[in-house]
Amino acid sequence: MPEEPDVNISGGPDGGGTDAAAEDPTFAPGAAETRAEAVVDELGEIYWQKAYGGQDAFECLVRTILSQNTSDVASQPAHDSLMARYGEGGPAAAPGGDLARALADADRDELAETISSAGLYNQKSASIQGAAEWVLDAYGSEDAFDAFVREEDPGEVRETLLSVDGVGPKTADCVLLFAGGRGGVFPVDTHVHRIARRMGLAPADADHEGVREAIEAAIPPEKCGFGHTVMIQFGREYCSARKPACLDGPEACPLYDRCDRVGVDELDGEVVDPAEAAD
Ligand code: SF4
Repeated sequence: MPEEPDVNISGGPDGGGTDAAAEDPTFAPGAAETRAEAVVDELGEIYWQKAYGGQDAFECLVRTILSQNTSDVASQPAHDSLMARYGEGGPAAAPGGDLARALADADRDELAETISSAGLYNQKSASIQGAAEWVLDAYGSEDAFDAFVREEDPGEVRETLLSVDGVGPKTADCVLLFAGGRGGVFPVDTHVHRIARRMGLAPADADHEGVREAIEAAIPPEKCGFGHTVMIQFGREYCSARKPACLDGPEACPLYDRCDRVGVDELDGEVVDPAEAAD
């Protein structure tokens, strides 16, 4: 298994986004009203405090479908290959550079081969092509879809995206956050799902939607975007699935004092999913 890159593709100092404080004058790091907010504030101090938005909505949708059930190290090259072939200036680009048009018209086998490094490439090529056809049917162009994501009510955008085959809550929320720039959206991936329940920020048996609801209720809208990317980064560096840093002692984790460690047995060195610990 190749190692994960140091920084998740949507986060990192160079991973897009702008300074959260510059975007929102009400942004107040350090004035936490809940434990979840205090956690996000501390992680923001350790990593970054950014606001997101402005990515191309359809490309963001494609990128998130490619990342499903795989690591960034596998999905990033697939994304790059897809853009090199079907994006503007590529050999299979559509006239005018509309990515949705190029992918709707793509030869399915060729598309699958182009994204093969992402795994599940037959399923993902079908989802991507289906999404491209849907965008063209419903909106007429990639740009019109972009405007819909940016300007319509976030709840309506989310419901609409969820109606598309291959688009689940995490994908819909990533599009809302990274393309729409919608505050108050906290996408829940596997790292966020694990850490929020381990720390006691969400019920131990909560599913992804339950974690999202608990976190979005406890964190101000302007801190949700970077809360998502810094929590993923923290999951990679400290609170990993099998070996959370606290197994090496309290001083090994910067958030030790804020954490319930549900499912983590520091004495035996054993780790189970928080839902099992709650049984
Ligand atoms: S104390 Fe342990 S379980 Fe809690 S956040 Fe830190 S590494 Fe994760």
